[in-house]
Amino acid sequence: MTPIVRYAPSPTGRIHLGNARPALLNWFYAKANGGQFVLRMDDTDVARSTREFADAIEADLSWLGVRPDSLVRQSERTQMYDAARDRLMAAGRLYPCYETGDELDRRRKRARALGNPPIYDRAALRLTDEDRVGLEAEGRRPHWRFKLDGRPVQFNDLIKGPQTVNTASMSDPVLVREDGSYLYTLPSVVDDIDLGITHVIRGEDHVSNSGTQIEIFEALGGKVPDFAHHNLLTDAEGQGFSKRLGSLSLSDLRTQGYEPMAVAIMAVLTGTSLPIEPYSSFAEIGEKLDLSMISHGSARFDPAELDSLNARILHAMPYADAKPRLEATGLADEAMWNLLRDNLHKFDDIRELSKLVTGPVAPVIAAEDREFITQARELLPEEPWDNDTWSEWTNALKENSGRKGKSLFLPLRLALTGRSDGPELKFLLALVGRKACLDRLL
Ligand code: GLU
Repeated sequence: MTPIVRYAPSPTGRIHLGNARPALLNWFYAKANGGQFVLRMDDTDVARSTREFADAIEADLSWLGVRPDSLVRQSERTQMYDAARDRLMAAGRLYPCYETGDELDRRRKRARALGNPPIYDRAALRLTDEDRVGLEAEGRRPHWRFKLDGRPVQFNDLIKGPQTVNTASMSDPVLVREDGSYLYTLPSVVDDIDLGITHVIRGEDHVSNSGTQIEIFEALGGKVPDFAHHNLLTDAEGQGFSKRLGSLSLSDLRTQGYEPMAVAIMAVLTGTSLPIEPYSSFAEIGEKLDLSMISHGSARFDPAELDSLNARILHAMPYADAKPRLEATGLADEAMWNLLRDNLHKFDDIRELSKLVTGPVAPVIAAEDREFITQARELLPEEPWDNDTWSEWTNALKENSGRKGKSLFLPLRLALTGRSDGPELKFLLALVGRKACLDRLL
């Protein structure tokens, strides 16, 4: 069976690292199993969904490396939801309710005060035709609830193992609002059936929804897909990411210069048993990652780990991969890349670092090193230079000055680069060349 999976964001905001997790888990699952990945925009909430957010989500996913096989928008599929609604009504599974939000609130409070669970009491099922006519004459419009079976719904979660959702302890969910628009629950099932979704991979905040939705799949005679509910990414304090949490939106991470691969690995491998380290490709991750590797515990995101992973990815990046990006900044030079990449935290650091080779550099020469640097200038070997030039030069300097270790090397580094850390001087020297070195040793 060819898997067909879907990622179903609501385009009511930009997506963040936590939203990238189900996107990538679905993507890897599809790619590793020769399947299809559907991007489904859950945009039935017309008041909050916008086309701009939908387009931005597509762009964010594309930056991350996720390329959907197809795209559907729920706002364009209303007729199918209407047909499903009518079938559920005809089967007596959808019933009209007239309570206002305030009335429901009051009933919930009363139930709590009496020590009862605050679930909907199905009062609307007891309304007579006459009652309904009366309520509508008052100007009330019904919202529609799905009548749950009240049986324990069981399914074998591909991540969490056997699950039981007891729908008897849940309120009958509202599927259709007063204005006739749909909440997420029904359209999702209708689409999953219509698109032949075989696996629903989503956050564990949806486990009880799955119980409800399995009942709806069955009521509509659709094939129930396999479910896999993953742990949710949280911040270091264990708090969930909200869509409004700016700094971890994918677009902000992009602006901050993180590699999409680093962001993807953090989003998907945090809270799994697969190590967080550079991988050569998404295909490699897809092959190694199995849903069973996702922890049943928490998935805490550590920003320091993102920084260090980002740096490690750059340190291991072959020139061929960096070249197109270096060309855009006029810095495509293989020897320079190979020397400098070990010092990168973000790719764009290359602009500053390359100045160590191309200049300008502001040499730092302490008063007590002045004489030593003059000596270094005089002893700088003539060209042509090779791999031994550095040791020839520093050996001669050692003998002449009596300096060694840090007092020999640090003043040279400060003079040649203007900073106390950086790439290996031996290789840097060769790239800088004799003339520029002489200028820096003044
Ligand atoms: N739009 C839903 C959400 O963002 C989709 C959940 C699902 O995958 O079914 O939570």
